[in-house]
Formats: sequence, C-alpha cells, structure tokens
Amino acid sequence: MSHELDPIVYLNGEWGPLSEARIPVLDRGFIFGDGVYEVVPLYATPDGRAPFRLTQHLARLTRSLGKIRIHNPFDDAGWRALINQAIDANKGEGDALVYLHVTRGVAKRRGHAFPADITPTVFVMVNPLTFPSAESRAQGARAVTAEDKRWLHCDIKSISLLGNVLMAQHAAENDALETIQLRDGLLTEGSSSNVWIVKSGKLFGAPRGPRILEGIRYALVEELALEAGIAFEEREITEAELRDADEIMISSATKEVMPITVLDGAPVGDGQPGAVYAALYDAYQRAKARELRQFSARAE
Ligand code: PMP
Repeated sequence: MSHELDPIVYLNGEWGPLSEARIPVLDRGFIFGDGVYEVVPLYATPDGRAPFRLTQHLARLTRSLGKIRIHNPFDDAGWRALINQAIDANKGEGDALVYLHVTRGVAKRRGHAFPADITPTVFVMVNPLTFPSAESRAQGARAVTAEDKRWLHCDIKSISLLGNVLMAQHAAENDALETIQLRDGLLTEGSSSNVWIVKSGKLFGAPRGPRILEGIRYALVEELALEAGIAFEEREITEAELRDADEIMISSATKEVMPITVLDGAPVGDGQPGAVYAALYDAYQRAKARELRQFSARAE
C-alpha cells in the first residue's frame, strides 16, 4: 500500500504502518476522549514538505495540554524532530498535514479522575491535504447555521469532538461546506473553522476566549488584514449582523481562507466572493511564500 493510504505513523516511540498501529482499549483517549490534538499544514516545496506556522501550532498544543493538565511529552525541539521524522518517513508529492495527538495515557481500570503515574500516549501521522479547488473558491461555498451546544472550553483543542462532529454532519446533510454556530444569538465559530464577516469594507471576528478555538489563522488573518490595509475588529457579532454581512469567510489549516456565498439558502451580500476575501486570500499566499522561502533558505 502507498504511504498515502497507509502512512508510516508514530505511536509511543515506534514507527510503523497506520494499519498496524494499536492502542489498548483502556487508553483514556478511547474511554473518555481525554486528550488534545493539533493539525499542522505541510506545504510542498522543492526541498520537501515544510510546516507552516509550526511555532504557533506547538504553542497552542502546549496551552491545550496545560489546560487539561497533561505533561507535555516533548519540548518544541522534540516535537520538531518528530515532525521532521514523520515527513521523511512519508515522502510524497503535494501538500500534506501532520496530525499530532496526545492522550492522558492508558489506565489500569476505568475511572474518571486522573490515574497516578500515567504516561501520555503520543500519536503522529501525515495525511495528504487537498485544498478547495480554484472553481469552488471562485464560486464560494454554502454554509448553514445552528445553535452552538458545545461545552465552554472550546479554546482547548480537545479530541472530544462530538459537538463538532454533529455540526459537520449537519453541514454534510444540508449540502453545505460548514455549519456556522451561534450561541445565545452571537456568532461563535464553524464546526472546524473560525468565521469572519465583512461590513462596509471592515473585517470582524468573534472574540477569542472559551467559546471558540483560537485558530492559528486567527492571528494570521489579523496580520494579513493589517498588511492589506483592511480595518479589523475583534468583537461580539450578532446573528442579525451575520445575516446582513457583505461577506462571510471561514479560516482553517485545510481551507486557508474560504468565502461563504450562501448562508441558510440566502445569498451573502451580492452572492459572490468579495473584495476583502480576495485581498486576504492573496495576502495569505504571499505569507505562505515568505515562510516557505525561509524554509528553503535554511535547507541550503
Ligand atoms: N475552530 C475549530 C473548532 C477548529 O476545529 C479549527 C480547525 N482546527 C479552527 C477553529 C481553525 O483553526 P486553525 O486555523 O488552527 O486550523
């Protein structure tokens, strides 16, 4: 089997095919969803695949682990070495992503409170990454809305993703790319993306805090807006403002920035991807090219 179908994965110090990787059923990740994860884009360069914004992803992993009191099994240098090994073990064409997953570890018996003397389970895998096509970007995507029923620690990148899974399924069943969630009449985020609106040329994002996951693209979009001369404000966004927006877009590692042109069946603004989206998408590609040039310079 090719590496794409059966990647070489890391599990607790061992490397081997995904199809052969096994965890004990008393792993706290399996039993309680007791763990956190990260998804880092790896862009294809002439010198091999290069991670994008890895420093920020590792900082978020450290924060997520700290918030659920799992000892970080590696320092940043250790994670970087592991990711480089994963890239080397799964050489291939095209863009990819590296998935990092840490659970509290394997317990001796099932019980909710943390067991003493437990060693975290660490799992790393590389998967291919396909971005939305140029046609779908030119057209924009459909989104639907739903009430956000998740817990109030959405800032932790938890592997307990049931709320997000149900929202992603809601989108799939409604022929939409994403479900945009609202809590008490205020915009929170997508099932696996942050959400941005544009009104009169100004960009707005829902406040960072426990009700959303701060995407690595959150600060990036802020930087890109600054570079493109677009005013940005981080503040509560009401349902009425969402429905009345000139533009809506989502951001995530796998979508970069993506325009939403239909919301709950109604056109967003004029129903076309907007000028602010176009400017941010271009700025995103430039930021990527800059970081990848630095990577290639280091590789020389
Ligand atoms: N919110 C949620 C709930 C997500 O799952 C994601 C994707 N990981 C994001 C936001 C966007 O985060 P990032 O920009 O780091 O991909």
